[in-house]
Amino acid sequence: MSQYKINTNCVQAGYTPGNGEPRVTPIVQSTTYRYTSGEEVGKLFDLEKDGFFYTRLGNPTSAVVEERIAALEGGVGALYTSSGQAASTLAVLNICGAGDHIIACNAIYGGTFNLFGVTFPKLGIDTTFVQTDISPEELETKFQENTKAVFIESLTNPALEIPDIEMYAAAAHAHGVPLIVDNTFATPINCRPFEFGADIVVHSTSKYMDGHAVALGGVIVDGGKFDWNNGKYPGLSTPDDSYHGIVYTETFGPAAYITKARVQLMRDLGVTPSPNNAFLLSIGLETLHLRVERHCENAKKVAEYLNGHDKIAWVNYPSMKENKYYNMAQKYMPNGTCGVISFGVKGGRQAAMDLMDHLKLAAIVVHVADSRTGVLHPASTTHRQLSDEQLVAAGIGPELIRFSVGIEDVEDIIADLSQALEQI
Ligand SMILES: *Cc1c(COP(=O)(O)O)cnc(C)c1O
Repeated sequence: MSQYKINTNCVQAGYTPGNGEPRVTPIVQSTTYRYTSGEEVGKLFDLEKDGFFYTRLGNPTSAVVEERIAALEGGVGALYTSSGQAASTLAVLNICGAGDHIIACNAIYGGTFNLFGVTFPKLGIDTTFVQTDISPEELETKFQENTKAVFIESLTNPALEIPDIEMYAAAAHAHGVPLIVDNTFATPINCRPFEFGADIVVHSTSKYMDGHAVALGGVIVDGGKFDWNNGKYPGLSTPDDSYHGIVYTETFGPAAYITKARVQLMRDLGVTPSPNNAFLLSIGLETLHLRVERHCENAKKVAEYLNGHDKIAWVNYPSMKENKYYNMAQKYMPNGTCGVISFGVKGGRQAAMDLMDHLKLAAIVVHVADSRTGVLHPASTTHRQLSDEQLVAAGIGPELIRFSVGIEDVEDIIADLSQALEQI
């Protein structure tokens, strides 16, 4: 565990060069590692010895970002994956199989919603979706005998809803199951879910952690406190035949979950990131604390500007007092939420599209959470197959614009919006 504060960990955790070694994290662009004794390689395969032997299971550059992100979240270990989707997939498959069930918020990221709602059922894992602000009493009724995990997003993309993390953690723990939290939008700078009872944290590092829109990636972080020996997780607490009968909870203690995810699932499924992407992520992480602060500062000013504009119907940003999730934001991410806001333009679909076309600084992109201001109209892009009625039902009205506020000068961002609004 690092003795430094979070801002220092962004810059330095995970890599301490020895005398005469490179100051910057080296890119170890190698799939393989040389050994002088065959017996030693055998021990690596049997998990009797720690070391790199094939990049699908581990790489020194990836290990730096794993250790850094584990330090930022306050976990015992992390596994870096090829995308955020890969992280969520492994996080669940590590403890669920055919015949199991999970509970998830329905406002989670669309990709995760499809994974849980369409692909996992084909593997025999079913999901019950619940409203973010479900009451504890109602949540209680959603648990089944075969429920193995609860999955939420600390700040949902794109609806910007904030679940009561402590309430979800208490419900999950009462049923002997872990709470998995996707902390992508809030980042560990603004919210550390382990402090509120979460057991596993996942991220799409493609967003703020990378921060420059250069490398897809994901990460799973293990809080190390959940008791996997409660009879519900034989995959962790009984022998694994593919490693000569190793029992993860016995051999790896608090790191049982994250070790199994790596040596079993990463070995078998191979959703491995490239060392070069690990390097790019390490550079992004060095400024995460600075960027997130500026994203939030800028977004708040943009939200306040839009809120007062007579061509704007509504603004959704949970750091604003009038927002439904303002109190949750104060509890779980008091220093700020994220740089993404959504708003509705008076005049509906056509006005929203006109506004986008008039923007000059803000670019139309299918991405959020990088340093450049980006804008997207879900009704005509990511959700274009839906009718206006279906859009409203999904909480994404035809007038909704998702605006990812970057770290440019906020006066330029507001001036761009202002000139575009004048033209519609
Ligand atoms: C983007 C995103 C994902 C998926 O991550 P990829 O890196 O695109 O696979 C998962 N969760 C959230 C909250 C996201 O924003």
